[in-house]
Amino acid sequence: MSYLRLNDDCFLKLLESPYVYNVKKDELYEVNDKAIGFLMKCNGITLNLESEAEPEFLSYCLSENILEELEEPKERKIYANKAPEPSLRYLELQITNKCNLICRHCYLGEAGKTDLDYETAIKIFDEFEKMQGLRLLITGGEPILHKRFWGINVRLPDYGFRSIMLSNGTLITKGIAERLNVHEVQVSLDGMENGHDAIRGKGSFKKAITGIEALKSAGIDVSVATMIHSKNTEEFDALNKLIEEMAIVEWNVDVPCSAGYLLNNKELLLPYSEAAQYMHYGFGGGSHGSVNNLVCGSHLCAVTPSGKVIRCGFYPDKPLGDVRDGLRSCWERMQHIKLAELNCDCEYINECKGGCRYRAELYKNVYAPDPVQCYARGVELTAS
Ligand code: SF4
Ligand code: SF4
Repeated sequence: MSYLRLNDDCFLKLLESPYVYNVKKDELYEVNDKAIGFLMKCNGITLNLESEAEPEFLSYCLSENILEELEEPKERKIYANKAPEPSLRYLELQITNKCNLICRHCYLGEAGKTDLDYETAIKIFDEFEKMQGLRLLITGGEPILHKRFWGINVRLPDYGFRSIMLSNGTLITKGIAERLNVHEVQVSLDGMENGHDAIRGKGSFKKAITGIEALKSAGIDVSVATMIHSKNTEEFDALNKLIEEMAIVEWNVDVPCSAGYLLNNKELLLPYSEAAQYMHYGFGGGSHGSVNNLVCGSHLCAVTPSGKVIRCGFYPDKPLGDVRDGLRSCWERMQHIKLAELNCDCEYINECKGGCRYRAELYKNVYAPDPVQCYARGVELTAS
């Protein structure tokens, strides 16, 4: 006698195709409708389901810890709703605009004092889960400074998405790391000590590294985000080595856009042609990509501390609506640009997807190529 049970870290996601998502491993498995039908039954209390599955599929699910085989019943509620199309997979939730640092390249500019109210944050979690969301990116400002941060943190294990906190890392002590319920923290490292401190303030690199060590000791995955600027280009090899030594799970490397404080600190900006040479250092999927035939951000939106739903952090002045009126209805108002509409004519279109639309707009217009991606791939910038 045995009971098959969907692992507690696994959730069924009905996106453009059906998937199983392991929130802890951040692994998305594409499956078919028949497999979803079978997995829906694996609730830990139904006897002898083994005969209903293909032996090969069953042994794969057991080996990947998608399923567990139990001798005693242990109930698991399993649910799956159909996601909207395109699916909202990644939600950037700016829970506060308070910050303890004044970074010279911060695209948000001056910090504020606004916290997203707790009740709205929890309503967003509920809606994002119902919409089949994959990754909740809890950001700011510095998220830990939200006045009810720990109240929000305590609710995270109730949800079937991966939670990732974006932090400058400087406030993360051993005690804080041990209380965090997020699966991953993305810490900003904008170079080694000299390059990082040149834009984030003296002493901030050492504190961020202490924060990363505390997170790793607490068993939390750590990813890193790095902006390429005029003070850190000599440091990329050393940073690459450090990233390897620290077993970082994802490294997002990007060129900053002229916005916020960077408008007053333009000496930090490198020509795109130069900055693009460092893009190859990064690895991992990130949250800004798209599937099928759409451009960047086709599965992403952001919510500001005042509750505005926006395309991404660069569009605070073009809200799709107020999240209190419904995340789904705001998402359904989003206009998605098709790849075919871009003025991109190169062999990399399906992997590049035209790069960043905000940067394209700064360069020429929303349909133009992203010059950073063109330089990084050696594509001549001729399209208008
Ligand atoms: S415009 Fe740029 S920042 Fe915004 S979603 Fe696209 S790639 Fe991301
Ligand atoms: S490399 Fe340039 S032209 Fe090619 S898809 Fe990317 S942004 Fe467009």
